[in-house]
Amino acid sequence: MRTRFAPSPTGFLHVGALRTALFAWLVAKQTKDVFTLRIEDTDQAREVAGATENIIRTLKLAGIPPDEGVTLDDAGKLIEKGDVGPYHQSKRLPLYRKYVDELLANGHAYVCFCTSERLDAMRKKQQELRQAPMYDRQCVDLPKDEVEKRIAAGEKHVIRLKIPRDQTVVYDDAIYGTLSFKGHTIDDQVLLKSDGFPTYHLAHVVDDHLMKTDMVIRGEEWLSSLPKHLILFKAFGWDAPKYAHVPLLLNKDRTKLSKRQNDVAAEDYLNKGYLPEALLNFLALLGWNPGTEQELFSVPELISAFSLERVQKSGAVFDLEKLDWLQGQWMRKIPAEEFASRILPIVTEKYPEAAKDSQFLKRATLIQERITFFPEAPEMLGYFYAPVSPTMALVASPKQKIEPAQVPTILDFLRTQLGLVSDAEWNRDSILAIIEKALPESGFKKGQILWPLRAMLTGREYSPGAYEVADLLGKAETMKRLAVAPA
Ligand code: GLU
Repeated sequence: MRTRFAPSPTGFLHVGALRTALFAWLVAKQTKDVFTLRIEDTDQAREVAGATENIIRTLKLAGIPPDEGVTLDDAGKLIEKGDVGPYHQSKRLPLYRKYVDELLANGHAYVCFCTSERLDAMRKKQQELRQAPMYDRQCVDLPKDEVEKRIAAGEKHVIRLKIPRDQTVVYDDAIYGTLSFKGHTIDDQVLLKSDGFPTYHLAHVVDDHLMKTDMVIRGEEWLSSLPKHLILFKAFGWDAPKYAHVPLLLNKDRTKLSKRQNDVAAEDYLNKGYLPEALLNFLALLGWNPGTEQELFSVPELISAFSLERVQKSGAVFDLEKLDWLQGQWMRKIPAEEFASRILPIVTEKYPEAAKDSQFLKRATLIQERITFFPEAPEMLGYFYAPVSPTMALVASPKQKIEPAQVPTILDFLRTQLGLVSDAEWNRDSILAIIEKALPESGFKKGQILWPLRAMLTGREYSPGAYEVADLLGKAETMKRLAVAPA
């Protein structure tokens, strides 16, 4: 199944578009086939500089780069790869002209000279009469010589598709199932605009035929145009590809996913530190139901389990809590060494001495269970590399029912007990054993001892557990930090 992703370069890549691209990528990979990126840049007024680069960069960062089509070379320059290009529609204008001429010659299309003023008036009248807006075919049967004369005289015109109005188009969409469209409800679509640029409808059909696309996976907003595309394929005498229309993404209140309620730029999620694994897992589950209880899917697992038949027709709610949950799950799944090497550069940026830390792997492992995003790492490890200054307000935590007046006694207890552990025995288990053995006689609850220990060692509200931190700080540093009184 050769598939393609065909965005218009009108801005950053939207999360909904990334999901559409993911579905298309998965279908291609399931059959070890090619996923192509075609840039639909025929509406040059809406084109945004840098949008194509953003699309490619985001696909690459997410882990679903195109195999063919428009891509970036190592220097970040746009290039084209593959032998059915060009893959920018703006570079294919003569092709569209050639194919539209073919349609004109065999009567499947006609030249229309109607001005925009006339079309506006027509639409207004239709609205007043509560009729569906539709071209009234004023130009459908103009004599050939009149058409030629008016064109030669430079009159502005477009080319329209002549819809066979007496036919019904029936189609079995891979997601929406069997659909049926009556010919008399389908508008005579403009194929070529007066500026010589094709509309999406013509360009899509010509390109997907010439690019040998087996399956078109695209947003649901194109569903109502599907019969026009099927009619066009037939008019050319070509087999149509298979189609799958992907339902919308929704805000929590079930309105269409909007910038007002959510961040919709896919790259922002990756820049914020969401793992590609988590983002792809999340996007796949938006609308796709695996039919089992499984929620965590690696990319290879997605490739084997995904199927368009199990994508629901109704819109899928974009639930960020689910994304955060998946992010946490994927953070835990990273192998320890990889986790350590991914956080090392961010930690050293803030604490250069981390670069020389022979215990970095152990320390990193302590926080892997506790952070959701890599940028949290420096804060969670900083106390290993810089002095701390715990305050009384932190150490005497009301939540742990500790009074400031009790703090000196608690610290004395800790100094005495930990002083009994030899350098050679200094590790998490012996620290735990000695404290917990002495606890009953101290008269304090466990939390009243452990919280101050952790607070004195880390100077922070959140960190890994007291025993683990003491272990990895070493005896000398632990005793040194316990020797001072909180500020
Ligand atoms: N340029 C169209 C869009 O961005 C492409 C739709 C398609 O995939 O065919 O919606």
